Amino acid sequence: MEVGILKRADGSAYVEIGDNKVIAAVYGPRELHPRHLQRPDRAVVNCRYNMAPFSVEERKRSGPDRRSIEISKVTRLALEPAIFTEYFPRTSIDIFIEILQADAGTRTTGITAASLALADAGIPMRDLVSACAVGKVAGRIVLDLTKVEDNFGEADMPIAIMPRDNRITLLQMDGTMTEEEFKEALKLGMEGCRKIYKEQRRALKEKYGQGD
Ligand code: ADP
Repeated sequence: MEVGILKRADGSAYVEIGDNKVIAAVYGPRELHPRHLQRPDRAVVNCRYNMAPFSVEERKRSGPDRRSIEISKVTRLALEPAIFTEYFPRTSIDIFIEILQADAGTRTTGITAASLALADAGIPMRDLVSACAVGKVAGRIVLDLTKVEDNFGEADMPIAIMPRDNRITLLQMDGTMTEEEFKEALKLGMEGCRKIYKEQRRALKEKYGQGD
């Protein structure tokens, strides 16, 4: 993980987790135009998740599709609870996530990177948001699935948390698990998120020095 990699963004980060390679850039808070979109009591958070055509094995057609629109929305919802949006009325905070290389778990890698970019932009936050995916493959609960495990596994469950108070801001599930498996998966996933959190803090300290 590396923070502050782009000159022209207010905040940015590069994150590699397994074979996922992701850049996040943040602009704002800046005055929102057109004005009728402004909120008098808070900042509006916009988020765009985009997969580069060369990020997957078979070239992906460029531009938004249903999947990227859904991921943009859940990413925004995963990050928004961490941001003190009420400090910046009438503004927007714009988050851009670019997937350069994908190997399952790109939404969680994107959330992890965007949270670092928000911190790098100096936007006041309750906590960082740390994310990873957990799933079930060949009857076993496993952390951080690869693309093959995701395709042939029984379940895939992306999770994002604010680690300081263990608040969950994203929990999705594709596939099926028993209640017991779900509990085990949630525990393992949250442990994974806490490891990610450590790395995020290390990356921020690397740029900004010691302190909390
Ligand atoms: P996530 O990346 O968050 O796990 P998905 O479960 O939807 O989200 O996707 C799993 C993986 O499938 C992606 O990380 C990527 O490697 C691959 N993938 C997703 N969309 C496409 C696509 N349009 N073309 C090729 N591969 C894709």
